[in-house]
Amino acid sequence: MPAANAPRAPRRSRAARTAPPLGSLTQAAHRETAACSHCGSERVTQLSMNLTDGTPVQFVSCHVCEERSWLSATGPLTVDGILERTRKH
Ligand SMILES: [Zn+2]
Repeated sequence: MPAANAPRAPRRSRAARTAPPLGSLTQAAHRETAACSHCGSERVTQLSMNLTDGTPVQFVSCHVCEERSWLSATGPLTVDGILERTRKH
């Protein structure tokens, strides 16, 4: 009969927790809610992309009236403007 009744010293569960610094909890995800330029609805799909000439644009597609608009940093772009930019090199 093994004398295994030696009291096991309870392990101090001193878990070295690596708590993340609170600063990292601030979410950098700043969501701009775009609205449809036609009906003003915020039920839009917004995509960021770059045109072939490097112009960053936001494509906004409305779920309500199906308006599609392109916005650049300088303002709204027309489809013709998009095509013109993508065409010329
Ligand atoms: Zn709309």
